[in-house]
Amino acid sequence: MTVLSFRSVLWSCLGVSFLKLAHARLEERGIVTSPEAFEAMNFDFVIVGGGTAGLTVAARLAEEEGWTVGVIEAGQYRPNDAIIDVPKNFGTAVGNANYDWIYTTVPQTNLNGKQVRHPRGKVLGGSSAINFEIFNRPAKGEFSGWSALNLGLGSWSWSGLLPYFKKSETYKPPRPEDVFPLASTTRRRAFQRRQNTTEAADAFFTAADSALGPTALNVDDLLAAASDGSDTVSKRDDAYHGSSGPVHASHNEWYSDLANPYILSMNNLGVSTNFNPDSGDNVGIYNTPASVDRDAGVRSYAAPAYYAPNAGKTNFLVLTGAQATKINWKSSDDNGLAVAESVSFVVNGVSYSAKASKEVILSGGVFNTPQLLELSGVGNPSILNPLGITTKINLPGVGENLQDHPYVSLSFTVKPGYHTWDELRNNATFAAQAAAQYAATKDGILASNVGVLSFFPLQSFLSTSKILSIVSTLVSDLVSSTSSMSLLRIAQSVLQLAWLSNQSIPQVEIVMIPGFNPTGTVTAPAAGTNYMILTAALQHPFSRGTVHITSTDPLTKPAIDPKYLSNAFDKTVLLEAVKYIRNTIATSAPISNFIATFNDPPASSTSDAQYEDYMKVALESLKHPVGTSALAPKELGGVVSPQLLVHGSKNIRVVDAGIFPMHISAHAQCTTYAIGEKAADIIKASW
Ligand SMILES: Cc1cc2nc3c(=O)[nH]c(=O)nc-3n(C[C@H](O)[C@H](O)[C@H](O)COP(=O)(O)OP(=O)(O)OC[C@H]3O[C@@H](n4cnc5c(N)ncnc54)[C@H](O)[C@@H]3O)c2cc1C
Repeated sequence: MTVLSFRSVLWSCLGVSFLKLAHARLEERGIVTSPEAFEAMNFDFVIVGGGTAGLTVAARLAEEEGWTVGVIEAGQYRPNDAIIDVPKNFGTAVGNANYDWIYTTVPQTNLNGKQVRHPRGKVLGGSSAINFEIFNRPAKGEFSGWSALNLGLGSWSWSGLLPYFKKSETYKPPRPEDVFPLASTTRRRAFQRRQNTTEAADAFFTAADSALGPTALNVDDLLAAASDGSDTVSKRDDAYHGSSGPVHASHNEWYSDLANPYILSMNNLGVSTNFNPDSGDNVGIYNTPASVDRDAGVRSYAAPAYYAPNAGKTNFLVLTGAQATKINWKSSDDNGLAVAESVSFVVNGVSYSAKASKEVILSGGVFNTPQLLELSGVGNPSILNPLGITTKINLPGVGENLQDHPYVSLSFTVKPGYHTWDELRNNATFAAQAAAQYAATKDGILASNVGVLSFFPLQSFLSTSKILSIVSTLVSDLVSSTSSMSLLRIAQSVLQLAWLSNQSIPQVEIVMIPGFNPTGTVTAPAAGTNYMILTAALQHPFSRGTVHITSTDPLTKPAIDPKYLSNAFDKTVLLEAVKYIRNTIATSAPISNFIATFNDPPASSTSDAQYEDYMKVALESLKHPVGTSALAPKELGGVVSPQLLVHGSKNIRVVDAGIFPMHISAHAQCTTYAIGEKAADIIKASW
C-alpha cells in the first residue's frame, strides 16, 4: 500500500464518526492517544510492546512504505525526562510505577524465602529506558551454542548476528587519554592452568546422547559447537563496530580514583586488559561501552533511537498507555497452523482490538510475552486447563527455561580523599558544581556510568582440583535428573558442561561500582563515607526457572520463579566468586590500599557458612532474565523457530529477550537490539 492510499484509509476510518475524529489526535511525533483511532486502523503488523526490540523491529518494518505498523505500548512516551536521560541517574526509575512494571519473584526457596526484585521498563523504549546503560557483547562461542541448538538454521551464529550488532550502533571509541590509563598494555593470556573437564563429564554425555537419540541433535555436534573457535570475521579495525546505527555507544569521560588501582590489581592477578572486547573475545578486564550519546550527554535508548527519527511517518503509529490482553484468532490455515487476526488491548478499563493483516509480533519482554501467549491459549494445557483457557496451540515450552544472571555485591568503605560517586551524596557544593557542569556542557560525573567490567572462566580463580570437584558434583546431579529434564535442558547442559573447559567462555562477571549503589547492597550508606562495590554475577547458571499466569485477568502479574541457586553448581561458583573478591581482589595492592573497611559482609564474616548466609540475603538479579520464549526446535521444548515464528502459528513472532535459548556472558540489551534488527530482515524476506 502506498503512503497516499494508507492516508486515505486512515482518514476514511477516522471519518466513521466525527466525534471519534475530534478525539483522534494523531499527534505530531506519531503517538496516538485515541484507542478508537488505533482500533479503526488496518495494520499490516501489530507489535505488542514498544521496548528495546519492539521499537527496533517496528522502525525497520516501517521502512517499507507499503506496510503499516502499529505498536501497542503500556507505558508512556517520556522524551526530555531527566530520570531517563541523565546517564548517572540510571537506577532511579526502578520501583517507580511511571517507568517500571515493578515485578518481584515468588519467594525463593534457596534464599530463605526472599522475593527478588525484577524491574522491567514500562515506558516507550522499555527496559532500554531504565537500564544501567552497559552496552557490551558476549563471547562468539556462545552463539555457536544457539546455532547448534537450532541445527544451524537461521544463522544464529556470531557471524550471523555481528552485522546486526553493527547495524544497531553508532560507536564512539574512547578518547586516548581515557583508555584505562596506567593499565598494562601487554596483552597477556591470563589463564595458564588447563584441564579437560569434558572427560569428567562423560557420564552425563552418555545419558544425554541416549535422551537426544530420537531428535536431530546429538552430543558430538553439541560438543563440536561448544569448542568452536572458527566462526571469525576479518580483523580490520572497523570489523566490529557500527558507525551509523540508531543507538549511540560511547565510553565514560569521567573515572573514579578507584578505576586505575582496581584495574592494576586485576592485571596483577592475571586478568588481562582486553582492548577489543566487542570482537567476540570478551575475556579479561575492559572499559565497557555505554548506551550514552556522548555528544548530547544523554542516555541513548530505543525511543530516541528508533522511534523519534521516524515519528513523522504515517505508516508507523504508536499507541501508549494501552496494555495488550489477548491475541484473537481466525480459522487455522490448510496446514493446521493457528492464524492471528487481531490483538485485544485495554485502555483505562475499556477494551479495544487492533487488526493485523500480516503478523502479530510479540515484543513485551521476557515476562509479559509468555503471559500474553498463555492468556491467548498458547502454552502448556496443564497450566491453561485449570484456568479455563482453551488450548489453541499446545506448546509446553512457553514460560519455561527462565535464565538470569544472579549476583552478589560486596561493599567496602574507601579511605577519605578519593573521588567516587559518593561525593554527589556527601558534598552539596560538589553536587551543585556537577549539576552546573552537566547543564552547561552535558559532561562530567553526571554523564558517567559503570565503566569497568571483567569476565572470566573458572580457571582464572579456582584450582584444577576445585573445578574437577565442582564438575563431578554437577555431573552426578545431571545424571540423576536426566530423566526429568526437558530435551532442551539436556542439550543446554551438554553445551554448558563443555564450556567449563573452554576458557574463552566466561562463567563469572565482576563489576566494579565506584560508589554506593542501592541495588544489591545490604547496609544503608553512612554519612560522609565513600564506597567501592564489587559485584559477582554468574553467567551460565544451571538453574532454570519459569514464568506463568495464575489468573485469566490480564492485569494480574504472572508468577516469576527463577529458582535461584536450585542447582548446587550455581551456589558453589557464586560462593567461590564471593571469596575471590573478598580474599584475593580486595587484599591485592594497589586497590587494597584504598579500602578502609569491609562493609558488606562485615570483617567478622570469614567462613563459607557466613558467606552463604550473606548470599541468601544479598542475592539480586542483574536484571537480565531471558529465555522464556526459547529459540529452539519444538521437539526440544522450544517456543520459536529460527524465523522467530511461534511453533504451530502461521503469523505470530516473538522478538524480544525472551528468545535467548541460552544465556550469554554480557548484559542483555546489545544482543536484544541485534535480535530486533535481524528479525526485521527475516520478516522483510518472508513477505
Ligand atoms: C533496571 C534494569 C537494568 C538493566 N541494566 C542493563 C544494562 O546495564 N545493560 C544491558 O545490556 N542490559 C540491562 N538490562 C537488561 C536489558 O535492558 C533488557 O534485557 C532489554 O532491554 C530487554 O528488551 P526487550 O525488548 O526484551 O523488553 P523491554 O525493553 O522491556 O520491552 C518490553 C516493552 O513491552 C511493553 N509491554 C509489555 N507487555 C505489554 C503489553 N501486554 N501491552 C503493551 N505493552 C507491553 C513494556 O512496557 C515495554 O516497553 C537492564 C534491565 C533493567 C530492567
